[in-house]
Amino acid sequence: MSKQYAVIGLGRFGSSLAQSLTQEDNEVLGIDINEERIEENREAVRHGVIADSTDEQAMKSLGIRNFDVVIVAIGDNMQASILSVVVLKELGVKHIVAKALSKHHGLILSKVGADDVVYPERDMGQRIAQKLMSPSIIEFIKLSDEYSIEEVRISANITGKSLIELDIRARFNVNVIAVRYSNNSVKISPEPDYRLKEDDVLVVIGKNDDLKELEKFNA
Ligand code: ATP
Ligand code: ATP
Ligand code: CA
Repeated sequence: MSKQYAVIGLGRFGSSLAQSLTQEDNEVLGIDINEERIEENREAVRHGVIADSTDEQAMKSLGIRNFDVVIVAIGDNMQASILSVVVLKELGVKHIVAKALSKHHGLILSKVGADDVVYPERDMGQRIAQKLMSPSIIEFIKLSDEYSIEEVRISANITGKSLIELDIRARFNVNVIAVRYSNNSVKISPEPDYRLKEDDVLVVIGKNDDLKELEKFNA
């Protein structure tokens, strides 16, 4: 069963989010105070309405509380972003996600009822920094300050060896949770005697310091 999402604010972040959710066959309603933004996204998002999300009556008449998740993607107008979360909370929206531009902004959004606060600019900066520093890392998910999941493109050093031979867990204290093959299919919990092939991608989980050691070895 696909979920119903409402995305408020179709700027660069909100429209990209709404388009991605639409492409994955979810029901998505785009909401923006600016008619042009609704027009620009008509093809990609399909359902759009012009409305002010700080207007409680307007949100109520859209039946906003019936959506599974409502994302407040207003950034620059901090007052509108905060007030929107207050209104959505008041109307009983089950799951509110809000975009914050700064730590203080995020703190306030949490206090007034946002269930999740996201920092796309900060997160993208971190992500791109990781990619620049280690080109073998394709994807990087920070789990906490200490732990991450990484997708690592294997180097010639590792190609042809098995996980047993590499002894990754004992040597690096890192766990291989999956291998992604060049045709994009994924093998979860790979057999320890599987021999890694060129273009395979290792999905590994571990402490950041341990992952760095593995990166050095793989380089
Ligand atoms: P981004 O940083 O994602 O590129 P942006 O910089 O273009 O966005 P923002 O100010 O962050 O613009 O706002 C995103 C969208 O939110 C805009 O399209 C704006 O019209 C819309 N918006 C602002 N206030 C409201 C409101 N009260 N109700 C509905 N939409 C709003
Ligand atoms: P972000 O979208 O990443 O949050 P922003 O919307 O706050 O950034 P931008 O207009 O994208 O601001 O500019 C980013 C930074 O680049 C700002 O700190 C700004 O002062 C600086 N900047 C803009 N133009 C120039 C320039 N010509 N020379 C040097 N710095 C600049
Ligand atoms: Ca912006």
